[in-house]
Amino acid sequence: MKKRILLLAGGQSGEHEVSLMSARSVLAALPRDQFDVTPVAISKQGRWLPPTDTRQALENGSAESGGDLVLHRVASAEGYDAVFPLLHGPMGEDGTVQGLLTLAGIPFVGSGVLGSAVSMDKVMTKQVLASAGIPQVAWRLAVRREWSSDADDVRARAAELGFPLFVKPANLGSSVGISKVHGPGELDAALDLAFSLDRRVILEAMTASRPRELEVGVLGNDAPIASPVGELRFAAEFYDYETKYTEGRAEVHIPAPIPEDVALRVRELALTAFRALDCAGLARVDFFYLEDSGELVLNEVNTMPGFTQTSMYPKLFGAAGLGYSELVTRLVELALEER
Ligand code: ADP
Ligand code: MG
Ligand code: MG
Repeated sequence: MKKRILLLAGGQSGEHEVSLMSARSVLAALPRDQFDVTPVAISKQGRWLPPTDTRQALENGSAESGGDLVLHRVASAEGYDAVFPLLHGPMGEDGTVQGLLTLAGIPFVGSGVLGSAVSMDKVMTKQVLASAGIPQVAWRLAVRREWSSDADDVRARAAELGFPLFVKPANLGSSVGISKVHGPGELDAALDLAFSLDRRVILEAMTASRPRELEVGVLGNDAPIASPVGELRFAAEFYDYETKYTEGRAEVHIPAPIPEDVALRVRELALTAFRALDCAGLARVDFFYLEDSGELVLNEVNTMPGFTQTSMYPKLFGAAGLGYSELVTRLVELALEER
């Protein structure tokens, strides 16, 4: 019998449009002889759209308004076998939707509440991965209230790290709200921007020199496998939103032209991180590689990475011989697997 799949896309985060793009690809690729897929778009206000409006939203690439506030009705009443929450960022990738689905008793693709929440927050991720012995850059946390009540103390934390440094909302993706801060004069604007998007902000030391950026896919539940390693190259100062989503701005190299032992280390570290964070299903783990010193630091873990046909994660497994349709099928199987 065909499995009934609910495909969730859109959502309230800054990555709304990216999610709808990924969903279009996944919808087209899930084999129709095995799956009966219902796409449901979530508007920017967090309302779940009925099927006709969803079709419109998928075509437009955005769901501005409309829909139903009663999430549970969609999630539980209609007897889905599994949900594919193809959502990025807060209210989607951060454990919230995963909690709803857990309560509703429906299996879903990807990490559960714990893995999603910890991996979404760049500070929590760093704390957990530090205790797993994974190399990372130096960092400091600041919360919004500190920035409004004792800005000098927050500025002092930045000074400890030295310039240039990166300022990031702790719970976002796609480089939304991230600034590279070259000196003290740029710091306040960067913090204002990051705090306008998140209550928690991470300050990060920059790697010793401009890093090479490596990404690796992880697939599986309690016995995960790692993909070949990929590399991104681009002209921009860092991998910002424009570079990520403007055609032709970044080059993807798979496999990354790096020494064999570095690739091996990347894949091992990615699997260690996946386990330490209690991830499931899939994750894309991103690294900085300093060619001169051979140093490798883990940058971040994305539990619901971009998923169009040309996104890095599917391409990485494509290079390992797993086609896009097989990959999404495998993800649904993993969601249904006993753990
Ligand atoms: P996001 O989750 O939005 O992708 P990242 O933490 O991956 O955020 O940062 C986006 C990009 O900013 C990285 O891909 C890299 O180009 C640059 N970057 C971020 N942190 C650092 C750092 N500590 N040192 C050097 N480059 C960085
Ligand atoms: Mg990210
Ligand atoms: Mg990133």
